[in-house]
Amino acid sequence: MAVKVVGAGLAGTEAAWQLARRGLDVDLYEMRPMRSTPAHRTGQMAELVCSNSLKSDSECTAPWLLKEEMRRAGSLLMEITSEAAVPAGHALAVDRELFATKVTGAISSNPHIRVHREEITWVDEHDGIAIIATGPLTSDALSREITRLSGSGSPSTPGVGVLGQSEHLYFYDSISPIVEADSIDMERVYLAARYGKGTADYINCPFTREEYGRFYDALLAAESVEAREWEKLNYFEGCLPIEELARRGRDTLRFGPMKPVGLRDPRTGKQPHAVAQLRRENLRADSYNIVGFQNHLKYAEQQRIFRMIPGLENARFLRYGQIHRNTYINTPMLLTATLQMKAHPNVLFAGQICGVEGYTESIAAGLMAGVHAAALATGSEPVAPPRASAFGSLVHYITHADPKTFQPANITFDLLPPLDDRVRDRAQRHRRQCECALREFDGWLSEIGANSLAADTRRMKFTARGS
Ligand SMILES: Cc1cc2nc3c(=O)[nH]c(=O)nc-3n(C[C@H](O)[C@H](O)[C@H](O)COP(=O)(O)OP(=O)(O)OC[C@H]3O[C@@H](n4cnc5c(N)ncnc54)[C@H](O)[C@@H]3O)c2cc1C
Repeated sequence: MAVKVVGAGLAGTEAAWQLARRGLDVDLYEMRPMRSTPAHRTGQMAELVCSNSLKSDSECTAPWLLKEEMRRAGSLLMEITSEAAVPAGHALAVDRELFATKVTGAISSNPHIRVHREEITWVDEHDGIAIIATGPLTSDALSREITRLSGSGSPSTPGVGVLGQSEHLYFYDSISPIVEADSIDMERVYLAARYGKGTADYINCPFTREEYGRFYDALLAAESVEAREWEKLNYFEGCLPIEELARRGRDTLRFGPMKPVGLRDPRTGKQPHAVAQLRRENLRADSYNIVGFQNHLKYAEQQRIFRMIPGLENARFLRYGQIHRNTYINTPMLLTATLQMKAHPNVLFAGQICGVEGYTESIAAGLMAGVHAAALATGSEPVAPPRASAFGSLVHYITHADPKTFQPANITFDLLPPLDDRVRDRAQRHRRQCECALREFDGWLSEIGANSLAADTRRMKFTARGS
């Protein structure tokens, strides 16, 4: 019987691919384009809805470690990120259209994967194996179904996996605006990498003290969408709307997304008072996103205020910032370390809905769920990744956090186990943690027989492209 994967986003496509490359048949369900979400724009699989960056790819950083583990485990999406990469300094950023097109192509043409364009509203926990990878914008009907699967009698009972109904089980996230490249006044901006490290891929819009002051005052006074709801919104700390950050103090932005340090303007030789940075959206370099300017302002207000950014006086906006609900289950209560429901072991969760945060983390969770579902489908016992690895540390966090205050997390060194012996130098310590993680991870890959599959991944994708 085919394994059912619900949601063809980042996690669902990676999970489906992992199953297929192990020779298992997959029914992959995606509700777009018939029914969309507030953030998706297309019917493509694996659409990146906000930033086009998968964070740092500098060796021995925590995001790199997670990506490196995925590469070693034969991740389809990681392979495609390198084919769709755009220059972004130390970060791994992609041309989002090319990325989604390539993922959609590889999945749609895989002979083991049958794609169904329909919304799933119920999951039969007694009928085969299912992976739920419907993301932070899971449709309402399926959210209610997951509440049932979680065994919740009362929506307000903490720790029973109610989606989007208990105060601990959702929060709000926001996305940043994108402008057309040829509407940027290149006379007013400059290209530079922070501290001159790496290639100068970012466009920097420099503010004088006076310009910053005017911008800041306008931002604070700007009208938000659903202004009366402000008090109730519960934001993810890592992705605060810029106006929320600004409320914390006049200089908060200058220590955050508008940090000028290390960005000397080559024309004046001076460091500006503040800087707004623009990052390329695609390889054609015809659109740029305003990094860290995710917000919840009315569209007209965004146009008015972001045109106060030096160089963006005549900017044309391809997308405005917006806010969205982020749905996730109470994983510490509901899932095992192999992402199976404790109450229904044939139902697995993957991606942001299982309590990880971020593109890379969602793909990693999809990869793990695919591997575990494949084990279940072939009558083996799924094996959790080792605690010392980035995979294992993410899983350890989502399954061991305090259920009362559980919030999704990005991969950081804080999640990895500390080294036995104290290493004072931070870079040295991180290097040692990465070495240890990768050693353990490689052991896990051999244990689950993944090493022998690496060559197959590429062969299947070339077949898919060629067909
Ligand atoms: C607006 C927004 C901005 C974000 N910005 C960033 C960012 O900048 N950087 C970052 O690292 N992370 C960001 N995230 C967080 C997260 O990394 C992404 O949401 C990521 O896409 C999660 O991957 P996923 O596979 O879990 O979900 P998704 O990629 O959203 O995939 C889930 C899929 O399931 C489908 N679906 C939903 N319900 C059903 C149903 N009932 N039946 C069938 N299909 C269904 C959806 O259409 C979607 O295609 C953002 C999230 C949101 C919502």
